[in-house]
Amino acid sequence: MTDLTRRKFLQATGASIATTSLFGASTAQPQPPLPSAGKHDGVAISSANGLETVKIAHQLMLNEGMRPVSAAIRGVAVVEADPNDMSVGYGGLPNELGVVQLDSSCMDGPTHNAGSVACIEDIMHPAQVAELVMDRTDHINLVGKGARQFAIDHGFKTENLLTDRAREIWLKWRAKRTDDDRLWPLGDTVPADPALADEPRPWGTIHCSAINSVGDVGCCTTTSGLSFKIPGRIGDSPLVGAGMYCDNEIGTAGATGRGEAAILSGGSMLAVERMRAGDSPEQACLYVLKRVAQQAQRASKWQPMLYKDGVPNFGLTFYAIRKDGTYASASMHGKPGSRKFAVADKNGVRLEDCAIAFA
Ligand code: ASP
Repeated sequence: MTDLTRRKFLQATGASIATTSLFGASTAQPQPPLPSAGKHDGVAISSANGLETVKIAHQLMLNEGMRPVSAAIRGVAVVEADPNDMSVGYGGLPNELGVVQLDSSCMDGPTHNAGSVACIEDIMHPAQVAELVMDRTDHINLVGKGARQFAIDHGFKTENLLTDRAREIWLKWRAKRTDDDRLWPLGDTVPADPALADEPRPWGTIHCSAINSVGDVGCCTTTSGLSFKIPGRIGDSPLVGAGMYCDNEIGTAGATGRGEAAILSGGSMLAVERMRAGDSPEQACLYVLKRVAQQAQRASKWQPMLYKDGVPNFGLTFYAIRKDGTYASASMHGKPGSRKFAVADKNGVRLEDCAIAFA
């Protein structure tokens, strides 16, 4: 590209970030230096339901030299198989027809590659299927029947993922459902339908981000998604940039909570890009949540999404690790100390407090 064409291109696209490698010398504003790898023996973080997950992921990186993305995927497998976690895998709450449909994605920092499956049925470990999509195909997303068949072709067993407990909760929901159910964003704090006030519609997911001792990153997210969703609804969890994202130069991030908000904000990618711009992991997560809150205010013109005081009525949490090994999580709202996330590093396995965007 000649210099003139390049200038025209930048003017036309409004591009302002430095793109030295593609276009030669940069004319854009100076960017903060990229974070460099820190001195640590690896860190894994996840949503609060992942204490066992982060322990496994950290050990696999440390003891077996497993790449971070695969360590995260092996870590979330325990939650996918746990019938008592009703937001992920086996035992997850079903869609409105009583069918468990799972979403998952994973991303590998060193190769900048990703894989995902959405609305997959009868397969307990969708994150492992996503890993195969990443490693064995040139595609990123497989959905529904195609994803299920791909899993079977690669040796996964089919099994009934609907437990009796999940079926009973679904039947109870079905008996009470109302017509506006598809419109209102039922959050974890304000059920739209007063009839469901004693049983807010549960959300849940597990995200795990990991970094190894040389600063390579990887991540995965896996979920049964919004309970009682419309069949075929895809949340943020299987979408690269929304439910998880990583860039080996910068770090890794992921989301749990209202998937539609993570999709509309491109939340996980935005968190990584904020870290590129110089934010700490906590600042990056809080930045995304504030952005989501602004967007929710606009959306409230057609969908009554806000509390009176302007705080979104849905739960959303971001998790991030920067290249140097620093990490954080932040939640949309809650009392300080009320929201936790799981961490494993050389100091052990523990829950830590999430920062809160609107305390
Ligand atoms: N993000 C998931 C979804 O929207 C649900 C959750 O994390 O609670 O499907």
